[in-house]
Amino acid sequence: MHIRTVEGLVAAGLVDDDAALDAVAAKYVIGITPTVLALIDADDPNDPMARQFVPTPAELETTQEERADPIGDLSHSPVEGIVHRYPDRVLLKAVHVCPVYCRFCFRREMVGPQGLGTLTPAQLDAAVDYIASHDEIWEVILTGGDPLVLSPRRLAEMMARLAGIAHVRIVRFHTRVPVVEPERVDAAMIEALKASGKTTYLAVHANHPREFTPMARAAMARMADAGIALVSQSVLLAGVNDDVETLAALMQGFVENRVQPYYLHHPDLAPGTSHFRVSIAKGQALVSALRGRISGLCQPVYVLDIPGGHGKADIGAATIVGDEGHYSVRDWQGQIHRYPPETDDKV
Ligand code: SF4
Repeated sequence: MHIRTVEGLVAAGLVDDDAALDAVAAKYVIGITPTVLALIDADDPNDPMARQFVPTPAELETTQEERADPIGDLSHSPVEGIVHRYPDRVLLKAVHVCPVYCRFCFRREMVGPQGLGTLTPAQLDAAVDYIASHDEIWEVILTGGDPLVLSPRRLAEMMARLAGIAHVRIVRFHTRVPVVEPERVDAAMIEALKASGKTTYLAVHANHPREFTPMARAAMARMADAGIALVSQSVLLAGVNDDVETLAALMQGFVENRVQPYYLHHPDLAPGTSHFRVSIAKGQALVSALRGRISGLCQPVYVLDIPGGHGKADIGAATIVGDEGHYSVRDWQGQIHRYPPETDDKV
């Protein structure tokens, strides 16, 4: 059962009938795939899967610092569907639909049926023309929404258009499909992902190790076997993954599935999401704790998208301060060392 309504949530035993949820649903779309539904433990009031996907009245509470466009996409959008924030890469947002709707989504005001919709053929033409006429664009990042909701035929058509642009060398997809609807990742989809003939990267969005079901693992294996480079994308979320055991298992799970840990996002200031936010100090302590605990292969970069469209900043714990000849370096256990060491430290 693909749940899209409050009635569906009630029928599945995930919520009680609650008028406040109708108000939430009127603002923010609901979506839970059968795969995700099977992962939710309805008897656990703190279930990390339910917390990510089942709406709550807390979403009606907005705080002063929250904003509809938390990472400033719109201020860098020269044509519909394109975000050109950094010189060598653009986002191409062809579709604003997702198989699931995450309750913490940073683009929650833009996705779903009331959102920005799907690019019309004329808008897609203009977006592709923009990419073709800017030869500094080395990488095109397909995001949205979730680009893998498109049929393989439509994806392949889009990829064929990028194939003709010589300066584009990398095509990257950001998607939750491999974990929330893994059956979509079939041979036709994989062919479509590679149809540009460019180097294909795919960022898998997962936030809890339980998302690595046998079906999800198989989907990631099919993509890795097909030569698609896989990187990870997670959001640090209170009550979902804000403890070192869960984060460590999540990052190890990525590596076990040939997904290179990449970004751990500090949660953005999206409306009605304050119940998901952790402090930056806590995030820094968590990423520091990961360093000693698990392999170097499993270390994500902890990033903040600076509100207003100023791009990402690496906010992992600063491990070195000072200037030439007088550095202090903090090790993974929190101890401070001088660099270079004093002469009598020499062994
Ligand atoms: S899949 Fe991505 S874009 Fe869609 S609701 Fe979740 S976070 Fe937002």
